Amino acid sequence: MANAAEHLQAKLVGHFRVQRRKYIKENEFTSKESIARMESRANKGSALLWKTYPLTQEFALTDEEIRFSVAYATGQPLPHMPERCGCASRAPLTIEHTVNCAEKLTRHNMLQSRLVSFARLHGVTTRQNPRLNYQDAKEKLEPDVIFYPGIHEPVQTDITVVNSCAPSILKRSRLAHLYATNERRAKKRLKYLHNATARGELFRPLIFETHGKISEEVDVTLDMLASRTPMDQGLAKTDMKLDLAVTLARGNALAARTTIAHTKWTRPTSWFVRHNKSRGISVQ
Ligand SMILES: [Zn+2]
Repeated sequence: MANAAEHLQAKLVGHFRVQRRKYIKENEFTSKESIARMESRANKGSALLWKTYPLTQEFALTDEEIRFSVAYATGQPLPHMPERCGCASRAPLTIEHTVNCAEKLTRHNMLQSRLVSFARLHGVTTRQNPRLNYQDAKEKLEPDVIFYPGIHEPVQTDITVVNSCAPSILKRSRLAHLYATNERRAKKRLKYLHNATARGELFRPLIFETHGKISEEVDVTLDMLASRTPMDQGLAKTDMKLDLAVTLARGNALAARTTIAHTKWTRPTSWFVRHNKSRGISVQ
């Protein structure tokens, strides 16, 4: 009896959720960005961060990181956030822009370093191509990390983070939550697949969305590492996913902090430059 009641209740809750989402999406006042955010976060990867139970110090997020993660999940601006970004494009400083503007390479390298540590723990050899700056990363044709699992061909990977709610993505597709990862995957395959195949290696783009969704290639790669786990050492796949979710949240919070700090630095400078220019003094 209890089972039947629970079953009915779960069904009602499920139905309520579906209706609620439909209602929000059909409301003419809901922005494209809000809809994309809602769709982008409806997956297990995005939910992971809220399930992390800090067993060790490394898993514990700081207050600032938590504050940012909540603001980012709900699309709310942080208090005292300036209206415009300090970057060259002077873009409106929305919460989505804060994860797009600065420290992209740092966030990328943070994720890469976690993946390489997992491999080391599982006795999988890796070779890395360090990225020194963002431009360099864009032009290079070598993959980020090559994993040598031993049981099958080496796996070339490219780690990439994409924001499915960025204005450029929203402009190009009405299904931003599907488009962002698919488009990035196609781009990366075009760039790396041919070379990898020619060398008899596999290629997997490891795509992370800023809202937490991970591509199936990340899943497959973690499976590959987890399958190498000897009886008493290494990490479970769920632990590795949790670790990546925390790392991504930290990378996003860092990007936001730097972006907002830049705004504050550039303001007095540009005033200073303008002020001196008007007096005929050139300031670099
Ligand atoms: Zn900016």
